[in-house]
Order: sequence, then structure tokens, then C-alpha cells
Amino acid sequence: MRIIMLGAPGVGKGTQSKLISKKFNIPQISTGDILRAAKQAGTELGNKVRSIMESGQLVSDEIVNELVREKLGSPECANGFILDGYPRTTGQADTLDSMLADLNLNSVSVVNINVPKNELVKRLVNRRKCNSCGFEFNLAATDFVESCPNCGSDDLIHRKDDTEDIIVERHHIYETATQPLIEYYRKRGQLFTFDGLKKVGDLFNEIIETIPAN
Ligand code: AMP
Repeated sequence: MRIIMLGAPGVGKGTQSKLISKKFNIPQISTGDILRAAKQAGTELGNKVRSIMESGQLVSDEIVNELVREKLGSPECANGFILDGYPRTTGQADTLDSMLADLNLNSVSVVNINVPKNELVKRLVNRRKCNSCGFEFNLAATDFVESCPNCGSDDLIHRKDDTEDIIVERHHIYETATQPLIEYYRKRGQLFTFDGLKKVGDLFNEIIETIPAN
């Protein structure tokens, strides 16, 4: 199963990717996670992208294309993959097309998740990740308790780009650079669109019932 997750920041691409990854035992390739890990490790790549990411801008196509190329060609992707947060520009989509053609992979489903903008801002300003167990949750959904609902740790990460002004900037970039990909994949019959306001489990069931088992 090969899947591209499409949608604005905060629609739930990461959450759904993790569930699909677990169900079908295929890797979630999140370019955002890879870049954040590089940033945290202080690698050359991480230092190069730090300020771009923290200001909500997109990292260059060249950088992310190379990250994805390395992953797609690796044995862990032999049975499929979920691309979470890539492609984000038409340039990236073109490069992805040629990478997939080189690997003889043409059946890719695109999962496009929609959520109204005002809801996205609320979700992202309240998003937290537990630094101990990795659990991601929304403060608003937990009555604003400042500890992890999964393990109780109070070591919570609030992403630097999850502040209101940066969220608005990221959304603007999504609308201008990424949204055109919806039409790009729709025209090719690869697009499946879902309502991201649904409960996580219901949305997951709908996605796996809808997309072809390629
Ligand atoms: P995400 O975790 O997907 O929200 O990504 C966080 C940040 O990483 C983005 O705001 C960008 O700065 C960078 N990033 C992640 N994926 C891409 C991509 N495909 N193209 C360019 N920049 C990306």
C-alpha cells in the first residue's frame, strides 16, 4: 500500500499516518519529523533548516527530495509507505513522480483531509507532544491538564512553529504552494478526500475502507 497524505497543517495527517502505518506495517515517512530530528541532533542539515522551520517557511525542494529519495529506495519501503507532509510543492510532486517511475511504482493513493481554518488554529496552538513517551495530544481535549494523558509526565513539547502567527503563515503557504496538488492528483484519479472533523477512529475506518488495497 502506497499513500500520500495531503492537507493543511493540523488536519490530522500525522495521527492517521501512524494508525495506517501500524495497521499495514508500512513505514510513515514524515519529512517534518526527519527534519526536526536533524535539528534536535544539531547535524549540518538540522542547523541549516532550523530558522526556516521555526519561521514556518518551506525547506528547499532539493533538501526534502533527497531525504525522500533515500527512504523510498530502502528495503523498509518494499511493501509500501505513507508519505506524510511530502510532496508540498508542484516541484516536489514532479520529482516524486520520477522517483516512483524509476522504482516502477505507479499505484499511489492520495488521502486528502479537510478541516476548516479556524479549527486548525485551535488544534495547533493546543497541540503538545510528550517528551517521555512520544504521545501527541490536544490540551483542549484534556481539560488543559499540563501532563501527558498517556504516561503522566509533565515534560511536554510545544512546537516552536505551533504559535498563532506562525500557524497563520504556515496555512498561507499551504494555500499557495501545496493546495494546487489537490487538482494535480484529482485529474489523475488518485485523490480521495475526507472530512477531518470526524473522530480519529471513524476517519481512520473510512480511509482504510475507501482507498484501494494496491
Ligand atoms: P510538518 O511537521 O509536516 O508540519 O513540517 C514542519 C516543517 O518542516 C514545515 O513547516 C517545513 O518548514 C518543513 N517541511 C516538512 N516537510 C516539508 C516539505 N515537504 N517541503 C518543505 N518543507 C518541509
